[in-house]
Amino acid sequence: MPATTQPDLDQFRDEVVTFLDANATPKEAEKAFEWGEGEDEVSLFEEVDRQTELAQLAEAKTFRAARYDAGLGWIGGPSQYGGRELPNAYDRLYTQLEGRYAVPAQGFFGIGLGMVAPTILAHATDEVRDAYLAKLYRGDLVACQLFSEPGAGSDLAGLQTRADRDGDEWILNGQKVWTSGAHYSDIGEVICRTDPDQPKHKGLTGFVVDMHAPGVEVRPLRQMTGGASFNEVFFTDVRVHDSHRLGDVNQGWTVALTTLMNERASIGAGGGGGSGLGNVTRLTEMVRHYRMDDDPLTRQELMKVYIGFQVAKFTNQRAMDKIKAGQLPGPEMSIAKLSLTQNLWRSANFVAGVLGPRVAADSGEWGTFAWARFLCGVPGLRVAGGTDEVMKNIVGERVLGLPKDPGIDATTPFRELRVN
Ligand SMILES: Cc1cc2nc3c(=O)[nH]c(=O)nc-3n(C[C@H](O)[C@H](O)[C@H](O)COP(=O)(O)OP(=O)(O)OC[C@H]3O[C@@H](n4cnc5c(N)ncnc54)[C@H](O)[C@@H]3O)c2cc1C
Repeated sequence: MPATTQPDLDQFRDEVVTFLDANATPKEAEKAFEWGEGEDEVSLFEEVDRQTELAQLAEAKTFRAARYDAGLGWIGGPSQYGGRELPNAYDRLYTQLEGRYAVPAQGFFGIGLGMVAPTILAHATDEVRDAYLAKLYRGDLVACQLFSEPGAGSDLAGLQTRADRDGDEWILNGQKVWTSGAHYSDIGEVICRTDPDQPKHKGLTGFVVDMHAPGVEVRPLRQMTGGASFNEVFFTDVRVHDSHRLGDVNQGWTVALTTLMNERASIGAGGGGGSGLGNVTRLTEMVRHYRMDDDPLTRQELMKVYIGFQVAKFTNQRAMDKIKAGQLPGPEMSIAKLSLTQNLWRSANFVAGVLGPRVAADSGEWGTFAWARFLCGVPGLRVAGGTDEVMKNIVGERVLGLPKDPGIDATTPFRELRVN
């Protein structure tokens, strides 16, 4: 159980360094980037075969458990549910110090800790908070987000998966899609329609569902990058106890918004989508290698990429400061998400222009075909967590004050609407 007394930052630093020294390896000093040397992999999604993925998950869980047992697993969380209740500065310090060590990939926990756990904390019963929060932060359980359906993505409130009450339980039937990590998740946050006679945003309810329950079927979807990190999930007469309801009956839209707000904050905080492109060194060296550094148009495009990442970095910093100061993230998160994907898209086009056919055929040449997975991955990020067009709508309406999208019908019962 984590300690509840508050150390000062220096004591905390010692505590973290002692933990990291015992459980991780310090990273070697980073060498200056040299074209043709080292790893040339540049992808946005971590995509490995299932066996490797399971081995990585086991390693990630072991590290997460050790971190939690050392009192560092949920630094800002309430002690009642296993957190340490320390201010944000301690969390930031941990992240900064951990960055100096090679630790097992922690992406498996991104959705659970970035979106589902905050929603459980905000909307679940005490029973569910007690049952899941500490286990999620310890890495004993992994969670996924079951929102999108074949007919409901941007228009999430159009979802049709049903939950019908049966005494103390609910019975779930329907299909979700694009569920990242469902194949290794233990629980999921699901939004279902509980009253089709209400307008579409009003008859929804959120639940925590056991992904191992009878009637839950997970089918992987192959992406154009070659990986299969997301899935279709089918529910057939899946029983969920009423204690696992999130928020009030038919108030699921509020629950979904809590999760979505946290989702955009998580993606925006990523800044460069793990691509490490922000400092454009890799692109500059590529241009030099192919002797295009005298070409004015190439130089101009390269500078546009650089400037885009720099502007996004500062906008992002502003949004993060607002969150850290305890304010709710607003349209800044949509701007951060949109500028990230626009910058990645501009980078992808730039790379394709410099490399030409080398990016499409695997000739074995260093640093060329390796970009193919990046190029194929960018469209996925332009869609995940709210598409570019939806982000533009939000920025248009809430920042620029343009007229609202006429799409929302707040009065007609869902049953009477035309559905996709
Ligand atoms: C990598 C990845 C991971 C994902 N992981 C998850 C997950 O874990 N859980 C989950 O629930 N979902 C997940 N999703 C799904 C994601 O949330 C949806 O794909 C997204 O919300 C878009 O919905 P859609 O695919 O149905 O497209 P649609 O909403 O059908 O959009 C189709 C096109 O129409 C445009 N469009 C739609 N509405 C408007 C509008 N009002 N104005 C202007 N243009 C519009 C869109 O921009 C898009 O170009 C993931 C998606 C990706 C790509």
